Amino acid sequence: MSKFVPATRVSRIKSSASVAAAARVRELKAEGRRILDLTVGEPDFDTPDHIKAAAVEAISKGETKYTSVTGTPELQKAILQTIELRTGLHYTPAELTIGGGAKQVIFTAFMASLDAGDEVIVPAPFWVSYPDMVLANDGTPVVVPCGEDVGFKLTPDALAGALTDRTKWVILNTPSNPTGAVYSPVELRALADVLAGYPHVYVLTDEIYDQIYFGGGRLPSLVEVAPGLKDRVLVVNGVSKAYAMTGWRLGYAAGPAPLIAAINKLQSQISSCPSSVSQAASAAALTGDQGFVRDSVEIYRSRRDAAVAGLNAVDGLSCATPEGAFYAYVNCAGAIGKTTPEGATIHDDQDFVLYLLDHASVAAIPGSAYGLGPYFRISYATSLDIIEESIAAIDKAVQALS
Ligand code: PLP
Repeated sequence: MSKFVPATRVSRIKSSASVAAAARVRELKAEGRRILDLTVGEPDFDTPDHIKAAAVEAISKGETKYTSVTGTPELQKAILQTIELRTGLHYTPAELTIGGGAKQVIFTAFMASLDAGDEVIVPAPFWVSYPDMVLANDGTPVVVPCGEDVGFKLTPDALAGALTDRTKWVILNTPSNPTGAVYSPVELRALADVLAGYPHVYVLTDEIYDQIYFGGGRLPSLVEVAPGLKDRVLVVNGVSKAYAMTGWRLGYAAGPAPLIAAINKLQSQISSCPSSVSQAASAAALTGDQGFVRDSVEIYRSRRDAAVAGLNAVDGLSCATPEGAFYAYVNCAGAIGKTTPEGATIHDDQDFVLYLLDHASVAAIPGSAYGLGPYFRISYATSLDIIEESIAAIDKAVQALS
């Protein structure tokens, strides 16, 4: 039998750590264990009924065929209006790409722009997929540690220190997965000032969590703060998180027309277009009643408050208050070097997370997966009861360390 040899780009990358963690939780549950699952990267709410109804209607009307690579006119219009409301800037259809999730759009953007040796600045902690997406597309991720002391955010000095003449992209993710950190207008302006001196550098601003923002008002936007950068910023978003539509696979990005044309050219050969039914549902999500988004943000806020207060009360753990998304990034430095009741040493956050799984039946994701330890990420896209039960179990497990 012939032996399959994957392409080198496959051996350069890892499978997604969060997908792997979710798979492990499923395995343990299948073995009959009750697991308090704090790994989940998607809303625990169902997609709102009016969005589902729009999908059903699209199916009944026969909107079940290929659409244009650039999406249906209805969805294009809905997205362009949404982006204008979000950024205060006008974008045209030629500046818009619509794909099968923000994840696919980001991947295609790298495929459309990176050649071997091109560098992409990835502030850490980062969403697990960025470095692997860069590697899969022949680029070189340049990971820049952004510690808790700087709010887990890229500073102008750190940016200036990482930029080279090979830099193609800087990634900003606000609100951030895994930390929930949000860049303020002042911070965005300061980064834009640095970027003004590097006209060959593009910025990918991943704003998939923009609506899950606890700061009041609109999330600060880089292109709004620095409109002069508009022709080299790719604003990425989608319907997954705000509308509980992760399974519908619909994301989009707005940016300079030549980049968008390159992305769309690739998309025409990759998937032709996103699902027509998901496009109809997404148009309904963006143009319909926004009560669901408002209500869910308030629910996330109360869960965040409970999670942050509970975790900070655990002796040995600490946690900054996230300003958006539905994650908290918990500092577990106080547990490193300690000994478990079985006599094993907790060397790093991976050991700690395994210890929590064994002793507290709590599943979380180690900070090392996000490029900055010793931390672990919890998701509070789960019920308040589960959050409280998990924190009590974590507390008991941490206090059992010596
Ligand atoms: N960007 C970030 C920061 C994310 O956390 C995720 C999903 O977890 C995505 C993008 C992908 O979103 P989508 O479901 O639109 O592909």
